[in-house]
Amino acid sequence: MNVLILGSGGREHALAWAVKQNPKCDRLIAAPGNPGIARIAECADLDILDGDAVALFCGENAVDLVIVGPEAPLAAGVADRLRDAGVLVFGPSQEAAKLEASKAFTKDVCDACGAPTAAWAAFSDLAEARAHVRREGAPIVVKADGLAAGKGVTVAQSVEEALAALDAVFSDGQGSVVIEECLTGEEASFFVLCDGTAMLPLGTAQDHKRVGEGDTGPNTGGMGAYSPAPVLSDAVQKRALDEIVAPTLAEMARRGTPYQGVLYAGLMIENGAPKLIEYNVRFGDPECQVLMMRLGGQVLDLIQACAEGRLAQVQAHWADDHALTVVLAGNGYPGTPEKGTPIRGLDALPETSSEMVFHAGTAERERQLVANGGRVLNVTARGETLQEARDRAYAMVDRIDAPGLFCRRDIGWRAL
Ligand code: ATP
Repeated sequence: MNVLILGSGGREHALAWAVKQNPKCDRLIAAPGNPGIARIAECADLDILDGDAVALFCGENAVDLVIVGPEAPLAAGVADRLRDAGVLVFGPSQEAAKLEASKAFTKDVCDACGAPTAAWAAFSDLAEARAHVRREGAPIVVKADGLAAGKGVTVAQSVEEALAALDAVFSDGQGSVVIEECLTGEEASFFVLCDGTAMLPLGTAQDHKRVGEGDTGPNTGGMGAYSPAPVLSDAVQKRALDEIVAPTLAEMARRGTPYQGVLYAGLMIENGAPKLIEYNVRFGDPECQVLMMRLGGQVLDLIQACAEGRLAQVQAHWADDHALTVVLAGNGYPGTPEKGTPIRGLDALPETSSEMVFHAGTAERERQLVANGGRVLNVTARGETLQEARDRAYAMVDRIDAPGLFCRRDIGWRAL
């Protein structure tokens, strides 16, 4: 089977690494890929937001399955274009991808199907939004509607902070926001494969969004993650499936836009009751790295079954293990990161089914690996316990010689 993975981050390196382990995979191509992926797959220079170009490439290269990594191609309708061209694709349609692209859309779906989520109201008028905030008081959550790469949300502790967030969203005179009740509890991520009708839980994870130790400082794309998430016990997972994911899938099917792909439910759990914070329509990054390390090569069979609508016939096989990933980021991140700084020592590190360094933002310059992004490397390890996975990951981190990078030293602290 010839597989094309779209994307260029640590998530896509982890997907490529897992898919490659499946003997069914003949040819593995990534577009555009990165230097880490290039060691295990062909990398193709392709505009992944251009559905016609991707479809043409698939025809020319006898691609049997396309796995879409990031949300942008999904929101741009690339999966629809591929399906129209008869290419098997893992990832939702443009309409179904609104579950991530539009917060108001997701809230409307939740209301229609009764999925528990924070109380909300949507506004496209600043004065009305301000009046709503004054009425409700703080704490309150202000979210710019649309894809904002995690930067459009303010959990405001005071009315003044919420009003300032509204002013920022409407700074050019227009905007649209969702204003939500502030939920309390513990956050975790739940991943479910969906083929339009059937669903298959694909594991749980927790990530660390803040740049600083103890979960302090500005938000980032994620400084580390671990799987499983203890707060998502079997009982809580069952409630999340029954009360949130299954009703959502039924509602999407009822609207004539069935959801196919991985549905990533960001949940808040309080006293064993899950509420939906948000959906993402793709794997999380860096959560994908820990899921792939735990799943290995079987993920290709599961993804293929999902894309073919055969999910009801397959099962995921889990070991009683734990995985943890530490993100190494360029100094300055999440502000402007230092780029071009050298990375040495990776070649001496183990590359096993339990220890891998996934590349996120690297480049090769004159045969030297250098940093080329905010999040640069994802040092990932597995163990029988979370502590073992963590010790292994940090032992690898300590052998990497990269003065231009930094990491948090406390990934997994909440679960330990
Ligand atoms: P990302 O995709 O990076 O998680 P996003 O822009 O899609 O971000 P959300 O996930 O909706 O935004 O919110 C970002 C974060 O804000 C959440 O992970 C959560 O910590 C917090 N948050 C969002 N909504 C609420 C809420 N109603 N109550 C409490 N905290 C919230």
